[in-house]
Amino acid sequence: MQTSKIRDLFLDYFSSKDHLIMPSFSLIPQNDPSLLLIGAGMAPLKPFFTGEKKPPHPRVATCQKCVRTPDIERVGHTGRHATFFEMLGNFSFGDYFKEGAIEWAWDLVLNGYRMPEDRLWVSIYHEDDEAFKIWNEMVGVPSGRIKRMGKEDNFWEIGLGPCGPCSEIYYDMGEEAGCGSPDCTVGCDCDRYLEIWNLVFTQFSREASGELVELEQKNIDTGAGLERLAMAMQGVYSFYETDQVKPLYKYFEEIAEPGRRDQIVPLRIVTEHSRGTTFLVADGVIPSNEGRGYVLRRLLRRAVRFGKLLGIEGDFMTDAASLVVDTMGSAYPELKERHDYIRQIIELEERKFQETLAQGMDILEGYIDKLKQEGERTLPGEWAFKLYDTYGFPLDLTAEILQEEGFAIDRESFEQSLRDQQTRARAASQSVSGTDETVRYRAAEPLSTVFTGYETIEQEAKLILALVDGETREEVRENEKVEVLLDQTPFYAEAGGQIGDTGWIEGPQGRIEVENTVFSPWGQIIHQGVVIEGALLKEEAVTARVDGGRRRAVCRSHTSTHILHRALRNNLGEHINQAGSLVAPDRLRFDFNHFSAITPDQLLAVEEEVNRMVLANIAVEASLTTLEEAKELGATAIFTEKYEDESVRMVSTGNYTRELCGGTHVSETGQIGLFKIVTEEGIGSGLRRIEAVAGMGAYRQTVEREKLIKGIAASLNTSESRLEQKFNEHLTEHKALQKTVQELKQRLASYEVKSLLSEVKEVEGVKVLSAKVSADSFESLRMVMDEVKNNLDSGVIVLGAVGDGKVIMVGAVTPDLVKRGIEAHKIIKEVARRVGGGGGGKPDLAQAGGKNTAALPEALDSVEPLVREQLKSGGIA
Ligand code: ATP
Ligand code: MG
Repeated sequence: MQTSKIRDLFLDYFSSKDHLIMPSFSLIPQNDPSLLLIGAGMAPLKPFFTGEKKPPHPRVATCQKCVRTPDIERVGHTGRHATFFEMLGNFSFGDYFKEGAIEWAWDLVLNGYRMPEDRLWVSIYHEDDEAFKIWNEMVGVPSGRIKRMGKEDNFWEIGLGPCGPCSEIYYDMGEEAGCGSPDCTVGCDCDRYLEIWNLVFTQFSREASGELVELEQKNIDTGAGLERLAMAMQGVYSFYETDQVKPLYKYFEEIAEPGRRDQIVPLRIVTEHSRGTTFLVADGVIPSNEGRGYVLRRLLRRAVRFGKLLGIEGDFMTDAASLVVDTMGSAYPELKERHDYIRQIIELEERKFQETLAQGMDILEGYIDKLKQEGERTLPGEWAFKLYDTYGFPLDLTAEILQEEGFAIDRESFEQSLRDQQTRARAASQSVSGTDETVRYRAAEPLSTVFTGYETIEQEAKLILALVDGETREEVRENEKVEVLLDQTPFYAEAGGQIGDTGWIEGPQGRIEVENTVFSPWGQIIHQGVVIEGALLKEEAVTARVDGGRRRAVCRSHTSTHILHRALRNNLGEHINQAGSLVAPDRLRFDFNHFSAITPDQLLAVEEEVNRMVLANIAVEASLTTLEEAKELGATAIFTEKYEDESVRMVSTGNYTRELCGGTHVSETGQIGLFKIVTEEGIGSGLRRIEAVAGMGAYRQTVEREKLIKGIAASLNTSESRLEQKFNEHLTEHKALQKTVQELKQRLASYEVKSLLSEVKEVEGVKVLSAKVSADSFESLRMVMDEVKNNLDSGVIVLGAVGDGKVIMVGAVTPDLVKRGIEAHKIIKEVARRVGGGGGGKPDLAQAGGKNTAALPEALDSVEPLVREQLKSGGIA
């Protein structure tokens, strides 16, 4: 049975059992800061399990795309572990329980998928006699086929809260798939007993006291790996051989160097990682050094490295992505929709990493030379680690290159470096614990806060929670920094790039100034601020008032952002997608993908288009609709938009642009007034950033410019209309003046030199010149010296000057006199001593400095006797 058929059959089966079929959620979790990526079918349904949200139906079934990075090291080494896979699941929110879940799972496996009964095994939690009974007595699984397993394997629990026993279905892949060990049975780590389906019975709640309390609303959460079902049904030992994955494996096998096509593990790794990278990019993840972006980067780079091991050249991951789109695009339309974009992002990251690898190769060659020189045969582990850590060289790759030249690696010290780094990383990640907020706002978790800020900016409300430093308070007083929750509020909490509202909350006896508004990890709206007057009590009636001027400015920025997005697409191409944004009252920032520089003309065209839309005064409307309908209308879904609600909020600016957006907007574009781009720049990775201003911000910017221009015109003593001409005149004049100054300087120097030459004296037939000149640096002093030397074919010259309160001196002796034993550095040293300094150089040229400026004339006078002395003795001792 084909993979797509297995998927359809699962969903059809549960649909016939009255389950609502929901499409796969994005890999990016919504409103769940505790999760990096969705790793199970139940993860995006969490609010329905906890009761925080009412599910659209008490029974739901999905086929969910999942990413599990903890399994990365197993990829390739087992045939059943992927970092990206699809999980089929049926869920009950307080509806059916163990009986229904077990009965249907067994029915589907036996009668739907027609798996041979003698291949199937089940496991249960060792204390779960209820499950045993259902398996054994109700559905008729022989007791010998039911394995009781411990807490480790068959009890699902994360921290406090809902938990429960689970029960798994295993498929025996046959002896030939196994490890051969006599102990090999269900639960063995090898590929023989394949866990295909896990049924979790969420039955208890783990209390803080450690006690297990039976839940009133019991839930069912099941997960069946689609790739694993396909393995079983297609009779293959790894998912790489199933119909959906095989084309990818084949592709890599074909482009690998012929001699390396038998390297199964690297081939599996590149195959597997190409799926995850494609899906992550499709869901809006962009390679980076942290969070989800890092997961993506790690998968992609790992694939490129293993590709190298296979001798594959070029942008092979980019083409692999297209193959993923081809094979999976009909089940996941987002792949087809974003095909070009996916290719662009992957190609860019792939090329960048190829360059890093090339740099690493140079380093490695350097290491090899060094080893050769020193006669060593083993590369120190620390060096191999540096290649691994900085240049992404896997140890195997380094080992292979070294081996070709007959070298080895000290693997032990490599492992040690790796361990050291892991320890450091662990310490670092603990110090930035992501659970801070979940602790700080724990008291908010059960509460509900309703947002009324689309309709109003002022709201009567009840203060339902007050926190000071994360502690619940009955009363908050003047000067305290507080965080408060209201049952309903017009304050917009920071989200989707739009910053949080500010304003005031007023009670009967006090007032809070709200400085920011944010979401709690569970989606409650939290007002952060200071009590500026009196006191406020919990349960008190209050009035919440948003700072209207600021909010209106934010709305102008936000609507401008939507128009800018559309205008960029119209002018640069439909590939433009938002990669990030900031919507603030005084400015807006818009990051997007584009792979070449934007010309000034293009930018101007974009700015003009936005302003034309502003002047057209188009109505901006928000409506609730379904995702399907929004897509049909051509709405731009920012990647992280959720699919989970039946309704999504769509903001339309006439027919010009439609986006799924939760933000606040102006009602007509005319309210934006004016839009100005301030800067446009590349920010790496094929991303560009525009910063712009709207409304009063834009107005103020033009006023500032105008002031600047007026100021310049005034100081040039001209009118604005003649400014450019006047400025050009000044520029020409300035250049002419510069030229004149230069000429005069030169004339002055030769003048000075001429008068200097008249001071040359003769000492026993040798021409000696020692004089004070005007120069403020060694450089200009040397220039004078050069000029003098040009005019004197033989002689001893010492020039001194006072610059910056210090004495500077240069001395020179022509070559004929050096031969006669006169040395410039010796003379200058003596002279410098007399001005309280020192110097040095060579026989033909030397320089010196000193502090005693008053002694300069006297010091220069000593040159003559020094020359005489040197001539006499044939040198100074
Ligand atoms: P395993 O012990 O094999 O790693 P698991 O106990 O981690 O599996 P669950 O968390 O119970 O698995 O996930 C539910 C189902 O999802 C499993 O029964 C299996 O079919 C599938 N599954 C889990 N992890 C992977 C993976 N890395 N690759 C492919 N399928 C997986
Ligand atoms: Mg696992």
